[in-house]
Amino acid sequence: MQTVLFHDTIFGPIKSRRLGVSLGINLTPNDGKICSFDCLYCEAGFNEQGRGTTGFAPRERVATLLENKLKAMREAGEPLDVITFSGNGEPTLHPDFAGVIDDTIALRDKYYPEVKISVLSNATRAGNERVAAALHRVDNNILKLDSAVDETMKALDRPVDKSYSVERAVAGIKPYGGSCTVQTMLTRGFHDGRRIDNTTAAELDALIEAYRVIMPGEVMLYSLDRRSPEQSLEKVGRDELEAFGNRIRNELGIKVQVV
Ligand code: SF4
Repeated sequence: MQTVLFHDTIFGPIKSRRLGVSLGINLTPNDGKICSFDCLYCEAGFNEQGRGTTGFAPRERVATLLENKLKAMREAGEPLDVITFSGNGEPTLHPDFAGVIDDTIALRDKYYPEVKISVLSNATRAGNERVAAALHRVDNNILKLDSAVDETMKALDRPVDKSYSVERAVAGIKPYGGSCTVQTMLTRGFHDGRRIDNTTAAELDALIEAYRVIMPGEVMLYSLDRRSPEQSLEKVGRDELEAFGNRIRNELGIKVQVV
């Protein structure tokens, strides 16, 4: 069974195809996973591996580790484009996510004022008042919407809260509008003998309508990069991603990044 990808609270910097030279922050455990989704393609593995033993990284520890790293990188003259919250689960589930964001902004301003702060979130907590206020303070607020068809979203992203729906996802993301990026993973394959495909004409039509409601500043389209825990899922080719990207640009006038 594939298990967690990140074994540290601060990791990298790594060269990210989506974001550039990125220093990662993993707020979730170093030896387990905590997420409100259980996506079939999750690079950190399935939730069934357990929550591990280290828990959410305490706010003070995150600040200390981040300061040590940024200070050392600055002194060594290392380049950096972005500080990115991702990791073994959903960062906004951290009990003091807003406080961690405040500390990160202060440290960024002190050591690398030109660097952006990005949060990769599945958007399940986007409607929470404190989380929303924190997300509005970062530079790149990247929210997931993989399918605008309930059955597909539930089969692919497998929300832990079974009452979670596309309607709730869109309602949670919509208030961010032009200040957010909506990120969509396109893939197809099988799970438990069932076909899953968010690239059909009906799926793409539904996504277009959801983007039309949200009107994000940008849509980020991508497909599988690393090994996915559900190994039947396939990587959708760049031509197909670009074709859908052009449709979004033409029909909605929204900026699209294919990564
Ligand atoms: S939302 Fe992200 S961390 Fe959570 S299961 Fe999906 S891919 Fe993994």
